[in-house]
Amino acid sequence: MTEIYIEQPTIDIKIGDTVSNSRIVEEFKCSPQGGMRRSKTTNTLVLVSKHVVSKSKVYDDKTIGNIYHYTGQGMKGDQSLLFAQNKTLAESGTNNVNVHFFEVFKEGEYIYMGLVNLADTPYQDVQDDEEGNARKVWIFPLQLAAKDNPQSYIDHGLVQEVYEDQERIAKSLSITELEARAIKSGSPASSRKTHTRTYYRSPFIAEYTKRRANGICQLCNQPAPFTDKRGEPYLESHHVIWLSADGPDMIENTVALCPNCHKRMHVKKERADVEKLSALYKTTN
Ligand SMILES: [Zn+2]
Ligand SMILES: [Zn+2]
Repeated sequence: MTEIYIEQPTIDIKIGDTVSNSRIVEEFKCSPQGGMRRSKTTNTLVLVSKHVVSKSKVYDDKTIGNIYHYTGQGMKGDQSLLFAQNKTLAESGTNNVNVHFFEVFKEGEYIYMGLVNLADTPYQDVQDDEEGNARKVWIFPLQLAAKDNPQSYIDHGLVQEVYEDQERIAKSLSITELEARAIKSGSPASSRKTHTRTYYRSPFIAEYTKRRANGICQLCNQPAPFTDKRGEPYLESHHVIWLSADGPDMIENTVALCPNCHKRMHVKKERADVEKLSALYKTTN
């Protein structure tokens, strides 16, 4: 087998960097539009996977572990594997075109994930086009070339924000629209590695907090609704000022709540509840 070496331009964007669309155009000499942008000048194909949601956008590229299931080009009718950049991508194992991958979770913010390779042969799926007509699309399973999974550069908060936008859209739909959407967003479920901030909570503080409460929820003042396997009243330790809001992990900032009240504190965040709990161990300073 003969390997043809074609010099690739050095890309001045680092994996994990967030850049603007104009920076991409400048760097790759490609079009400012579309999800698949071919540049003959730099012999590259730039792929953009947009996760930003809107009411009309039904499909999102699925990410399953470190494989991206990238939908090909063609807005209307059946997609063809011989069409424009679908062909470039399908042949990317042999055509010496480097394929660069960007993900967008927020409008205008492109996160560079580095080079991608075809992980498997492209396959077909049925998706609705813009006018709601079912048609065949090509899905390209792509894997990131970088050894250290660059997905870990993506902050969990970004993925969470997209999810929350989807929740808002879901709430705004009628039951009929919702049913249609629910049926289309089937399995397998998307999963990805992200960068998460984990707060260390002292188990001693948590245990002390529960023991101190003596089996009584400190918000509703009712006994714990059930006992655990060891027969002890089940309560949960909660930080009055959340750790994510820089609340201290200290016994003055923790209370023991029944699961119901605990959920209530996180869902409703009612001021009167917070005040009641924060008054419990208020130290004079
Ligand atoms: Zn309670
Ligand atoms: Zn809590």
